[in-house]
Amino acid sequence: MQESERLFAAAQVHIPGGVNSPVRAFKGVGGTPVFMERAEGAYMYDADGKRYIDYIGSWGPMVAGHAHPQVIDAVREACLSGLSFGCPTSLEVAMADMVCDLVPSIDMVRMTSSGTEATMSAIRLARGFTGRERIVKFEGNYHGHGDALLVKAGSGALTLGQPSSPGVPAALAMLTTTLNYNDADGVRAWFAEHGEETACVIVEPIAGNMNCIPPQPGFLETLRKVCDQSGAVLIFDEVMTGFRVAAGCAQALYGVAPDMTTLGKIIGGGMPVGAFGGRREIMEHLAPVGPVYQAGTLSGNPIAMTAGLQTLEILSQPGFHQALEAKTQRLVSGILDAAREAGVPMTANQVPGMFGLFFTDQTVTDYAQATQCDLAAFKRFFHGMLDAGVYLAPSAFEAGFLSSAHSDADIDQTVSAAREVLKSL
Ligand code: PMP
Repeated sequence: MQESERLFAAAQVHIPGGVNSPVRAFKGVGGTPVFMERAEGAYMYDADGKRYIDYIGSWGPMVAGHAHPQVIDAVREACLSGLSFGCPTSLEVAMADMVCDLVPSIDMVRMTSSGTEATMSAIRLARGFTGRERIVKFEGNYHGHGDALLVKAGSGALTLGQPSSPGVPAALAMLTTTLNYNDADGVRAWFAEHGEETACVIVEPIAGNMNCIPPQPGFLETLRKVCDQSGAVLIFDEVMTGFRVAAGCAQALYGVAPDMTTLGKIIGGGMPVGAFGGRREIMEHLAPVGPVYQAGTLSGNPIAMTAGLQTLEILSQPGFHQALEAKTQRLVSGILDAAREAGVPMTANQVPGMFGLFFTDQTVTDYAQATQCDLAAFKRFFHGMLDAGVYLAPSAFEAGFLSSAHSDADIDQTVSAAREVLKSL
């Protein structure tokens, strides 16, 4: 950790908090963030040369593992043709075609440079399309840091205890209503009174920013129903779940089609990317066809498209997500067994490629339960695992991610480490 400590001290001189995104600062767990130097497959190597089995995968994008040779070779080749043109390219056509093929609810798609831009733009489009201003989101869901969405948000905002940020104009926050995740009755009650004023509902179809909380049976179906009845636009924020849990995203896993989908992370294969897409009728309200403005200097960047296309090609091979699901199952059941042996109360949620461990004896289905878990136990577990060379998200409110590069041996090594750490808690 010597080199990380030196770098963190240096970083804090000219970078607020020493990091370019808050959750990296280890505020949720204490201690010095690990400065990484390189990554390959399931591993990351820090500035002191220590190896970690990585369960963050750059917060989701690296579903095929770090520095996958197919991705790196294609990116290297693409770089030789120039890094950015600010003009249309065939790569963007290929990307749009691929996304629309994989996700049937998406007729048209627009690329952005981050997930935040994707959700911001989707909200503006939903408002422009419906002529309504109110939006509905769910407590503990995170949709990036756009003003309208940084109200009772998850992820770093939750970890830092600032789910509703100063700096968001009250007039704007007033238009955002936050309901309880997985509470279908709450949704019906809101729509009974305010359905006609509601432009859209935005939801993480599997919540991954208050740890990992899948939808309860009927929850997504209820959202579909109230949106159909009221004319509100249903937006699935699949920035995290898109192409991770299934090639057709979470909407394929649960069989509920939204009107719009926001994407990011995996679709850029590790390059800065986001995207939003959906029904043709809605997307045709977007400039330059329609009046709702949205743009981006680096949107559809050729290097990002190349990395994303290669990653999508890898994950759309038959069996990719079944294998990922089996790995997730092996990891989660191994850790739960270890917790049971150690007498540590723990439950878990999992979907293919994504998991959440909770230091509690309750099944966690919403924000209130997620925030009631034993955070002190999580912190000790996190640091014990870090010492043992296992890199988990440095917050009890983030999901864990696996990749196709994680071998059974990596997973078994992780479970052995967990067994030792849990015994010492
Ligand atoms: N939506 C979801 C569901 C996310 O998980 C994230 C980021 N973790 C975002 C939006 C924002 O994406 P970005 O950080 O690329 O702006």
